[in-house]
Amino acid sequence: MSNKTFDLIILGAGPAGLTCSIYASRFKINHLIIGKTLGGTITEAWKVENYPGFKQISGVELGQKFVEHAQSYGLQIIESEILKVVKKEKNFEISTLDNKSYPAKTLFLGLGTKVRRLEIPGEQEFLGKGVSYCATCDAPLFRNKDVIVAGGGNSAVTAALHLSEFANKVYLVNRGEKLSAEPIWQEKVLANPKIETILNTNITQIQGKNFVEKCTLDNGKTLEVAGVFIEIGVMPAIDLIKNLGLELEQGDLIKIKPDGSTNIPGVWAGGDIASTMHGLEPRQVVTAISEAAQAAISIFKFLRKS
Ligand SMILES: Cc1cc2nc3c(=O)[nH]c(=O)nc-3n(C[C@H](O)[C@H](O)[C@H](O)COP(=O)(O)OP(=O)(O)OC[C@H]3O[C@@H](n4cnc5c(N)ncnc54)[C@H](O)[C@@H]3O)c2cc1C
Repeated sequence: MSNKTFDLIILGAGPAGLTCSIYASRFKINHLIIGKTLGGTITEAWKVENYPGFKQISGVELGQKFVEHAQSYGLQIIESEILKVVKKEKNFEISTLDNKSYPAKTLFLGLGTKVRRLEIPGEQEFLGKGVSYCATCDAPLFRNKDVIVAGGGNSAVTAALHLSEFANKVYLVNRGEKLSAEPIWQEKVLANPKIETILNTNITQIQGKNFVEKCTLDNGKTLEVAGVFIEIGVMPAIDLIKNLGLELEQGDLIKIKPDGSTNIPGVWAGGDIASTMHGLEPRQVVTAISEAAQAAISIFKFLRKS
């Protein structure tokens, strides 16, 4: 266990966690970030076109810029998986996969989301053998092949567009009667001759020998494909912190007050793991960073009083 008790430990190194850190550094709050993926989920975005200041930037580059900015204050980021978060008498204690534990007076929860699965036969079996949850990461592996993208929101539509730069053919299979992605992305899909949109349809099974070879659909058709990209949304990553007794709302999102604080004294949250006063949408980088900045200011005031 680290001897040092941090004033603040930030859980998660995505846009929310890194922004909270930038503000905390400027307030001279003695803190630490622990996160698995530096830069967070935005690193999975093929192109980001709605983050002010950058007309277009890749998600990887934007994530790296956030990391570099946070590190420029001399901060150490622990790149590890968090296994346990417990409330002790005075402090909180965070345990990581590398058998270390870190005590802290306050916490900021910026753990984001985890992917939603189709829960169909073959999905787990062929994970990494044709099944993927990240088109940005895996698209180049499917050069000149046929692939399916499951979903109809922004993630699915941008995944289909990105895949069309490599694949021979992209089937965009959506269970709803229309796509829900932003119209500007939908127009690009319609204009792309490599993408065929199939609506009102579910994928029921993924099959193959060693790797994915085909998918059956509930419209009676079978598509011969080498890749299946599942882009059907995400769920808040709250399993790890359920034991803290946090109040949840809007489908397992952490309920936060306008200053980012939660019902547990000493715990703040922000970004995709938290609810907003405006409802569920949009969960974006801009919402994550604004909540995180607000939380850092509130944490600073709390620590000053304690
Ligand atoms: C394909 C795709 C495209 C997108 N495109 C856009 C876009 O164009 N514009 C836009 O604004 N938004 C976009 N988004 C949404 C955006 O990525 C999120 O809103 C944003 O990343 C939320 O930030 P966050 O910090 O709350 O969570 P995340 O970015 O999800 O960060 C969570 C952090 O917590 C860490 N973590 C979670 N569990 C653990 C654990 N057990 N141990 C250690 N660390 C853990 C993760 O590793 C990560 O560092 C896109 C998302 C996807 C998936």
